[in-house]
Amino acid sequence: DNELNELADAVNRHAGPWRATPLVAGVSPSGTTVEVTDPSDRRRIIGTVENADAALVDRALSAAVAAQPGWDRLPAASRAAILEHAAEQLEHHRAEFIALCVREAGKSLPDAIAEVREAADFLRYYATMARRLFGQPEQLPGPTGESNQLFLNGRGVFVCISPWNFPLAIFLGQVSAALAAGNAVVAKPAEQTSLIGHAAVKLLHAAGVPADVLQYLPGDGATVGAALTRDPRVAGVAFTGSTETAWAINRALAARNAPIAALVAETGGQNAMIADSSALPEQIVKDVIASAFQSAGQRCSAARVLFVQEDIADKVVSMLAGAMAELKVGDPGLLSTDVGPVIDEDARQILVDHAARMDREAKKIAEVRLPAEAANGTYFAPRAYEIPSLATLTREVFGPVLHVIRWKASDLAKVVDQINATGYGLTLGIHSRIDDTVDYIASHARVGNCYVNRNQIGAVVGVQPFGGEALSGTGPKAGGPHYLLRFAGERTLTVN
Ligand code: NAD
Repeated sequence: DNELNELADAVNRHAGPWRATPLVAGVSPSGTTVEVTDPSDRRRIIGTVENADAALVDRALSAAVAAQPGWDRLPAASRAAILEHAAEQLEHHRAEFIALCVREAGKSLPDAIAEVREAADFLRYYATMARRLFGQPEQLPGPTGESNQLFLNGRGVFVCISPWNFPLAIFLGQVSAALAAGNAVVAKPAEQTSLIGHAAVKLLHAAGVPADVLQYLPGDGATVGAALTRDPRVAGVAFTGSTETAWAINRALAARNAPIAALVAETGGQNAMIADSSALPEQIVKDVIASAFQSAGQRCSAARVLFVQEDIADKVVSMLAGAMAELKVGDPGLLSTDVGPVIDEDARQILVDHAARMDREAKKIAEVRLPAEAANGTYFAPRAYEIPSLATLTREVFGPVLHVIRWKASDLAKVVDQINATGYGLTLGIHSRIDDTVDYIASHARVGNCYVNRNQIGAVVGVQPFGGEALSGTGPKAGGPHYLLRFAGERTLTVN
């Protein structure tokens, strides 16, 4: 606790102002900037950002294309050592990075601490995997007299496009994977979190990644993102964000008269937790609260729907309302805060509209009270509704709203069918002490990550690789042993 208090003090001493600019080899900042404000208090200016334009996209890609072969020819161990050095430096400067995550992304302190740890884990994990996979060519068995070798190499220039909800961990995860595999990278952060992306790229440059091998283009999706993904020089895109944007990127890549690009997409979800009457109500409520409201519900893994078996539904719903009344919404920089703001006014408005529809069509279980100071930030009060079926939700609700659906014991198969029918396949929680029920659900639900008798958020790099299928993403899983392969090309050498 003492350590946490000290860290909180250190974090709160960092208040900016921070500055983000494009980082393009050989180009100086232009000086045209816009202000960045704190989601928890929009009156507080925490920095400025200078966005890239189409001319910079072109320059960044030209420099990256020229630099990539040299980076690819470095021994994998040298690239890995640079990433490991960056992880050390990230930990050394962690108070500043945590502060940035709190102030720019509205992350609560525990979330921001976890985010920095996860970012360092990604750097080290992909360094280790690069040594293992790219270190030596693989000798393949073949006819006597011939030698057959399989080499892994970088594909070329990878564009990394990331979301604001894990502005450091996902950003550095994508970028470090692409670099580890021998690609040059042009990174575009989400427009809401350009300061964090800038600090992350500076960290990698300071650790030894050459400026032309990794370039940084803050800017919005429609201009910078779209210009990058329609460019024929791009060999691959690592994208994390909404399913709709993944479709747009897929279309842009497909329309190019250019080499077929690799697309690694990690997208949205419509995640459920299923609880049967053998589960402990206390545990269901504790885990669903963490899964639905931590990070203000702005996690792709978050539980949006709790299917609760009708025998225990009244009890669970009343305990849920009681537990929600204890949630503290407020300044994410305070250790006493459970739920911080949502990322911006657009995100808040989507939630307000959804809640207005739920107020008309569903039964409200609870709504958390907002403190008076919330009026200065982009806050949205966490709430829960009872709805008749999953069909009521037509799209991913990206915020602190939980929906509860009651089910009958005879309807387990229908519950799983409803979940599969959403077309998404990201996370699923199961609360049950009956092995057959757990086995049935786990083997019939088409989801990437299934969690039993625990919350369904928080993947551990290298231990619980994360990622969905179908509308939720292409795979392979981030933080898993196969992820780097998607960033690699393969060549064979046969010598008689
Ligand atoms: P978003 O799709 O709006 O934006 C993501 C990124 O794409 C941003 O950098 C944006 O500028 C860029 N972009 C937008 N339009 C583009 C275009 N036409 N061409 C190229 N780039 C474009 O998503 P968001 O609001 O930043 O993030 C929230 C979403 O991300 C949610 O759907 C969430 O579920 C998902 N997400 C998924 C995972 C996962 O691992 N599956 C993890 C985190 C977030």
